Amino acid sequence: MAKTSEKLFAAACEVIPGGVNSPVRAWKAVGGAPLFIQRASGSKVTDADGTDYIDYVGSWGPMILGHSHRSVLQEVQNTLREGMSFGAPTAREIEMARRICSIVDSVDKVRLVNSGTEATMTALRIARGFTGRDKILKFEGCYHGHADSLLVRAGSGALTLGVPDSAGVTSGTSSDTLLAKFNDIKGVARCFEAHGPEIAALIVEPIAGNMGVVPPASGFLEGLRELTQTHGALLIFDEVMTGFRVGLEGAQGLYGICPDLSCFGKVVGGGMPLAAVGGRSEVMEVLAPLGPVYQAGTLSGNPLAVAAGLATLDQIGQPGVYDRLERSAARLEEGLCRIIADRSIVACVNRVGSMWTLFLGVSEVADFDAAKRGDLEMFSRFFHAMLERGIYMAPSAFEAAFVSLAHSDDDIDATIRAVDESLAAIA
Ligand SMILES: *Cc1c(COP(=O)(O)O)cnc(C)c1O
Repeated sequence: MAKTSEKLFAAACEVIPGGVNSPVRAWKAVGGAPLFIQRASGSKVTDADGTDYIDYVGSWGPMILGHSHRSVLQEVQNTLREGMSFGAPTAREIEMARRICSIVDSVDKVRLVNSGTEATMTALRIARGFTGRDKILKFEGCYHGHADSLLVRAGSGALTLGVPDSAGVTSGTSSDTLLAKFNDIKGVARCFEAHGPEIAALIVEPIAGNMGVVPPASGFLEGLRELTQTHGALLIFDEVMTGFRVGLEGAQGLYGICPDLSCFGKVVGGGMPLAAVGGRSEVMEVLAPLGPVYQAGTLSGNPLAVAAGLATLDQIGQPGVYDRLERSAARLEEGLCRIIADRSIVACVNRVGSMWTLFLGVSEVADFDAAKRGDLEMFSRFFHAMLERGIYMAPSAFEAAFVSLAHSDDDIDATIRAVDESLAAIA
């Protein structure tokens, strides 16, 4: 089938650990050689063998406009003529910072970085610098990039002290990371009762996306806002996935919650390495050169990345954009739910706006424990059956899928048919 990809993967494995530059790309969870992508346009990616697929990975979130959007490519090309990187301030960065501050109410000041990982890592350092406290609280199954103190999720119970999830993370580092369960506000309250005065910040994906999509339970985010406020900890919304995705103002706009710090990435860079951390001035001003919290980056605010991001924000700022995304994604969800009901299979669809997950082998997913009860073996067969039918999904059951503005009704309907056939084929 994908002969060229197989050859490329073998070659890559000789010089790149596991053949990939980010582990999930290796398809370990589903088996087989990953597709090497040659190019992408609109709703489709094309692999190294020249086969087209309707794409729901969307580069893991950034490609909300679809691939190779003309105005984004144009802006990047125009900017490229001026040079690639100066390591000095540029006017475009002001424009990007103003744009983020004007769109997101909770953000008065923002710093641009290169990746979501840097954004969350910086947010924690700011929170620790601002509060003078050491500990952070995160949720099992929430992913915030690969910074040491955030690579922790093992252990059980809200009060369990963290143990490292990754080799190479010291127990000293992970012991400052407290864990709670997503959507379990009582567990969070117990954690604050036990450790309140030591907790610098609580960091959360306001809509969990990295255990598959799990929306916040009613009152959960409000509860987090209240508890952090009561105990003098900062509330960090990691909106690297949800920012500019579930609505122009992200999850905080959707649910009407005002966090102290917010992290953005993915959509904000329009497919280029750009991310951001922002919040109210008083908190952000602990950053160097104003304050004692150090943070820096040779390529931070890179002109090409900022240009791609601005062009993307220009497009998604137009009226009706999120209605269109909602309509396409709702069409897909309805189709999938119909199939689940018609075939009486145990499965469910979780969706917020254009991010969604089809969970197989579990009829309802409101937390990480339920997500983990999914049928992984079934997912892997489903994944390959979809691929054979020209649909490219994330190669893991614990991921969000993304509908873009480039997905047409025909794409959606073809996807629904492929899901129906795939579920029949693997039954
Ligand atoms: C993708 C993601 C990150 C990490 O961003 P990178 O750019 O991959 O470093 C952090 N938090 C969330 C919620 C994400 O989805």
